[in-house]
Amino acid sequence: EGRETRLRVVLRVRPLTCTETRRGDQQVVHSLGDGAVHVSAARHDATFGFSAVFDAGASQEAVFEGSGMRQLVEQAIDGFSCTVFAFGQTGSGKTYTLMGPLAQSETQPVTPALLGLMQRSFTCLLDQSQSRSSDLALSASYLEIYNEQVRDLLSPGPPCALPLRWSKTRGFYVENQLSVDFESLEAIVSLLLQGSQRRRTSAHALNRHSSRSHALLTIHIRSRAVSTCPALGEGLGGPELIVGVKTAPGCACPSKQGTLCFVDLAGSERVKETGSSGELSVEANSINRSLLALGHCISLLAKPRGKWTHIPYRDSKLTRLLARSLGGSGITLMVACISPSSHCLSETLSTLHYASQAWRVTTRP
Ligand code: ADP
Ligand code: MG
Repeated sequence: EGRETRLRVVLRVRPLTCTETRRGDQQVVHSLGDGAVHVSAARHDATFGFSAVFDAGASQEAVFEGSGMRQLVEQAIDGFSCTVFAFGQTGSGKTYTLMGPLAQSETQPVTPALLGLMQRSFTCLLDQSQSRSSDLALSASYLEIYNEQVRDLLSPGPPCALPLRWSKTRGFYVENQLSVDFESLEAIVSLLLQGSQRRRTSAHALNRHSSRSHALLTIHIRSRAVSTCPALGEGLGGPELIVGVKTAPGCACPSKQGTLCFVDLAGSERVKETGSSGELSVEANSINRSLLALGHCISLLAKPRGKWTHIPYRDSKLTRLLARSLGGSGITLMVACISPSSHCLSETLSTLHYASQAWRVTTRP
């Protein structure tokens, strides 16, 4: 607590897709083990290191266990602000890593083995909530940033823009966002599905279901260590009566409020490669602008603390909402996603470059 902590950065290399194989793309990314990865192509030969590297054969479970996601869930229960964000070009596997291949299948449920970091975290959270001697109150909010507008994905009706404000105590926050209580896995998965269906996506050359917005799902966790509240224990006739009762007046027993935020970023891609025009190119431009702002903040934060100048969080809504996770009091896991194909080389190198910089960023949880 309060100590400088490095962002945890892991890399996931997805398998070559059918299209890439048919086209005869070379595999240019090779995992060397121990968190190292090697990129070798005609004029490029470079090695990068991360907390962990997951190659094409890695299962969703291996990513959950090996990325430190389970610990992140526990830290959120302990009252920290935890964030996991997936980063990489369109079609690199961000949504797959976070949610599994569910975007396509509303009717047929996903095989449990393919469930992503989000569903696995929910299960872990609800299991912990049952087994701990604490009483957890859970709620979720789900937002997207589309064309520099923050929209609520849970409130009914057509999406309307919500104001993003700043206060001394809360930092940047979204006003009037809906927060929905839940108590079961079915309930939170259904909120996730509802919200994801409203998310702005459009098909373009790189991905049939490309996300055109940044999506942030936040789980708010309030916990009270019920059984350890001595003030409540007195005269109430046994611990079973304490459950569900709020802290006794004037009692200093620990009540913690943590958050667990999942950020699915829109892909970084150049307009010409996706064949985007008109509305799509406006989208691509605002996506690129906010990712550029994110990259800029990360590169400044990667400098030693003493050398920090002003960090321009205000340059985009995305960086404002991620300010705490990147440079503040949060605990952050970044999952950088890349394709192994020679065709994606320049985007892959740029993702690897950002991810290496992010690995030098520290926060003070
Ligand atoms: P992004 O969200 O980064 O744009 P997606 O997660 O939608 O990319 O992935 C693009 C395509 O690649 C999808 O069809 C997805 O099912 C597939 N894919 C991504 N990662 C993997 C993986 N690790 N294993 C198998 N298929 C994957
Ligand atoms: Mg996606």
